[in-house]
Amino acid sequence: MTKGAPLLEIADLRKTYPLGRSGALGLGRRRSVSALDGVDLTIRRKEVVALVGESGSGKTTLGRIVVGLEKPTSGSVSFDGSVRYPSETRVSARELLATQMIFQNPVASLNPRQTVAEILAEPARVHGLLPQEEKGFVAELMARVGLADGLANRRPREMSGGQCQRVGIARALAVNPQLIVCDEAVAALDVSIQAQVLNLFADLQEQNNLSYLFISHDLPVVERLSHRIAIMYLGRIVETAPTKDLFQAPAHPYTQALLASVPRLDRRAVTATPIQGEIPSPISPPSGCHFHPRCPYATAQCRAERPQLRQVGAERRVACHLVDADGAPPNDQSIAQARK
Ligand code: SF4
Repeated sequence: MTKGAPLLEIADLRKTYPLGRSGALGLGRRRSVSALDGVDLTIRRKEVVALVGESGSGKTTLGRIVVGLEKPTSGSVSFDGSVRYPSETRVSARELLATQMIFQNPVASLNPRQTVAEILAEPARVHGLLPQEEKGFVAELMARVGLADGLANRRPREMSGGQCQRVGIARALAVNPQLIVCDEAVAALDVSIQAQVLNLFADLQEQNNLSYLFISHDLPVVERLSHRIAIMYLGRIVETAPTKDLFQAPAHPYTQALLASVPRLDRRAVTATPIQGEIPSPISPPSGCHFHPRCPYATAQCRAERPQLRQVGAERRVACHLVDADGAPPNDQSIAQARK
């Protein structure tokens, strides 16, 4: 699959949510929670980028900003050569059509009172894109996602989770998007249905030259579908690399820990090493490298200085003080050197 020029370019994106004041009477200092802490990410045309990390890492916030459901606190977002943020003018609903989102809970994301046909025709009608031949338009959308014609008059509660997710995908396709944000789009489905929906995503991507930002907490789910993976931890991207490279040689200690936590068959037994500790609260994140309290290699520099996301090797970027210029992960030599 050939990837093209940059479609979505995100630079130094931050999102902070205000909280109440601290203290028993609420008279202390104002507090805030940082969901995104300086995120840089580019998605090219026809590229599938998976955004992976534990719950609370900021993945969904990033996806919601990309489709215009939320505004960033600072930083920039450009789409198809136009600056969306920061911008003097409000991003119009029409401009936002090119980026669509598919949600985790397929049933809850659909209007329970509408039929499938109404759900699929509505976005196109609202934006003046509905052709006169409405029935044919709906039938074509349903065929594209593998839904039988006979389901057109059903309501969400009369269908399975897999069928509802196909309706969600068809609804996104109804307005001809260039980029689809899939937020844990198969997480709520049974494993056998997951595979079918992932195949559908892959086919639609090929047929329509789509780009995806595929948000997931599950590395095996994204392995087959994505061209590139971005690993996120507590509001920061800590590693991006082509999918194959990342699975073969993870460089960042957090990526290594995520991969080691995936159950695998080893000498006829299923083994997995859970990641040590819990993801810290974003209200008071650790200093320096956010991962240092859980990292077996942490040094004084890690506790004090934020590691920048830097290019290592041809196609990889990593935010770790101890990863070398070729992308080699922390090793005895680099750790000894750092601890001198
Ligand atoms: Fe671990 Fe330090 Fe690298 Fe952070 S910067 S991942 S604490 S070695």
